[in-house]
Amino acid sequence: MLNTVSKLGLQDFFHKVARAPQSALVLDYDGTLSHFRLNRTEAFPYSGVTPLLQEIMATGRTRVVLITGRRADELIPLLAISPHPEIWGIHGLERLHNDGLHEIEPIDQRTLDALSAADDWIDNLKLQHLAEHKPGSLAVHWRDLPEDAARDVRGRVLLGWLSIADRACLNIEEFDGGVEMRMAIRNKGDAMQTILAEMDVAAPVAYLGDDQSDEDAFRVLDGRGLCVLVRPQWRETAANLWLRPPAQLLAFLRTWLEACIQKPSRSVRESRTTDCGTGLRHEQGKHERRAG
Ligand SMILES: [Mg+2]
Repeated sequence: MLNTVSKLGLQDFFHKVARAPQSALVLDYDGTLSHFRLNRTEAFPYSGVTPLLQEIMATGRTRVVLITGRRADELIPLLAISPHPEIWGIHGLERLHNDGLHEIEPIDQRTLDALSAADDWIDNLKLQHLAEHKPGSLAVHWRDLPEDAARDVRGRVLLGWLSIADRACLNIEEFDGGVEMRMAIRNKGDAMQTILAEMDVAAPVAYLGDDQSDEDAFRVLDGRGLCVLVRPQWRETAANLWLRPPAQLLAFLRTWLEACIQKPSRSVRESRTTDCGTGLRHEQGKHERRAG
């Protein structure tokens, strides 16, 4: 693992969070804040995540934003944060503001026809129990199938989907445990771009994600903010920091909270944040040694 942000760089980042009047903490959900679950309505956040996010939001100094591949409203009962944070759903196709305002990109007829054909294909394969239907998108999940069965499902789905997507100029994107056909007009990087445009140029920003679709956001944030891969196993990524959930994720969020509740004039290094972040930084050091 090569963490391209140093221990000092991470300290400096939290120092900026402590001093900045406003910062942004942007998060993927499944696999980043929660375990994957066969029943997606039971994929609750890791223990401790919800209160930390709630407290970070309550400081009024960090804009907390979720960007998910799910429909945005699916996260509200899972997060159980009231009022809910801003949530971008379907990889940025829709935006649910924290005041309840909902925006979604219009879906053209050619896309609707193609998704209907893709759904018919899944029907013929008798795989509806693995399907997830969303506006402008259709996904098939095989995460909990044995490896051979998953490979078989993937092959049979793509056999029909590739030509359907090609004709309608839709994207087919594989993720950890499935594949999705969706409109190509928005991705998580576009959502990240909009969020950045709404922030002060000096505001500290971090994006945390686990899957391939998060790489679009990492690339947009590269050089401007902290890109964090949250995953039990490392993989090739544009992120510059790797955290293993849940322990390192919780340490990161705890350190963020500590930075938010400091008086801006105090240094992070002089505060109890140093103690709070010790475990996290120690783990970073281990990763760096592994890389060497
Ligand atoms: Mg994810």
